[in-house]
Parts: sequence; C-alpha cells; structure tokens
Amino acid sequence: MPYYLLFKIDGHRQSGIGELMKKIQTVKGSVDPDTLGRTMTHEHLLWDQRCWWPGEPEELSLRAIAHSEITIENLGQIYYHAHLHLDNIQQRSVGLAIDEAMHFRREDGHTLVDVTPIGVGRDPRVIRAVSEATGLHVIMGSGYYISTALSADLRKTEKEKIADTIVREFVEGVRDSGIKPGIIGEIGVSDIENAQELKMLKAAAIAQKMLAIEF
Ligand SMILES: [Zn+2]
Repeated sequence: MPYYLLFKIDGHRQSGIGELMKKIQTVKGSVDPDTLGRTMTHEHLLWDQRCWWPGEPEELSLRAIAHSEITIENLGQIYYHAHLHLDNIQQRSVGLAIDEAMHFRREDGHTLVDVTPIGVGRDPRVIRAVSEATGLHVIMGSGYYISTALSADLRKTEKEKIADTIVREFVEGVRDSGIKPGIIGEIGVSDIENAQELKMLKAAAIAQKMLAIEF
C-alpha cells in the first residue's frame, strides 16, 4: 500500500513512520544526535545544474566560454557567465569531492549535509563513499529542484505520489541502494512562482508531516 494511503487511513503515529526520526539518519545508518559535532548544513558533493544552462549562445565568443574548462586565466569570465559555463555548473569528480570534504574534516568538521535534490546529480553511493573515505557523518537530502530540472513524468505526477516517493526513500532507501536520506531538502524555488515548484513544495510538506519530522 502506498505510504500516503497508509497515512490517510491509520495516521502516521500508528503506522510507525514517525518513530524513524528519533535518531539522525546518515548514509551509513542512524546515529545519535549528540555525535554530530561541527556540522556543515548545506553542501553539494556532486551536482549537475545544467537545468540553469541558458542554451547554446549565438555569439561565437560566448560559445567558446560555454565549452571551455575552468582555468585560472578564464576565472573572471566564468564568474561573469556562471550558468553559461558548462564546466562550472557540474561537479562530477568523486576525488575532488573527497579532497574538499577532507579540508573540512581536518578543521575538526564532523558532519556534512548534502542537500543535492533528486535528479540534479544526487548520488547516494558516492555520498556514502565520501563518508567512508573522510570519516565524516554525511546526511543526504531528498526532494526536487526547480521546474527546469523536472522530467516530463514528474511534471505529470500528483503531489501525493511525489510525497510517497520521498517517504519511501526514508523508509526503504533510494531505489536498490538501501541508502536513506536524513533531511527533506533542498527544494528548488525560482524567483517567479510556478505551479510545478509549488507542487514540489507541497509534496515536501506532506512527506514531512507523514514522517513527523520536527524542526
Ligand atoms: Zn544548495
């Protein structure tokens, strides 16, 4: 039975889902909140933000910028054209993610929260590999990003079903990985209100209520 129906019929307390959140769920399992220590609350270890890419520019000079690699020489241009530059809106290197997380670990960091949404590069196995390589607790997020990052199927899916997907991740893990998120977010919202993003916000709120997460 879908979790949403279970929630509607039994209420979350009887269904036992609310019992999940007395501990912190990291990608390596539940830990006591007292063990978190110094925590970085908003990070992205791997990401793919091509949903921000404005598309192939008409001007040749800008096209060259879009497809160049990041170097110290073109850093100024990249700051100026941050979303046009394809190498700047993706982070696909597991090694780089580990190296950068180690900087935090060496400065007495203990916990990192990766709030990369579903579909923009969230990668549970890599997130767990970073946790294992660095010794950091890593808490993974769940939820959806801005409307340009949503698939055609997601755009047609109703909010209750979206909420169910989020809850299922908390209870069963992401697909066949068994790796569970520990936080809902981040949820993508653009400057201009749109119906798809509002739906995703509502789905996140429904899932939060079902999971009985308290802030
Ligand atoms: Zn973010």
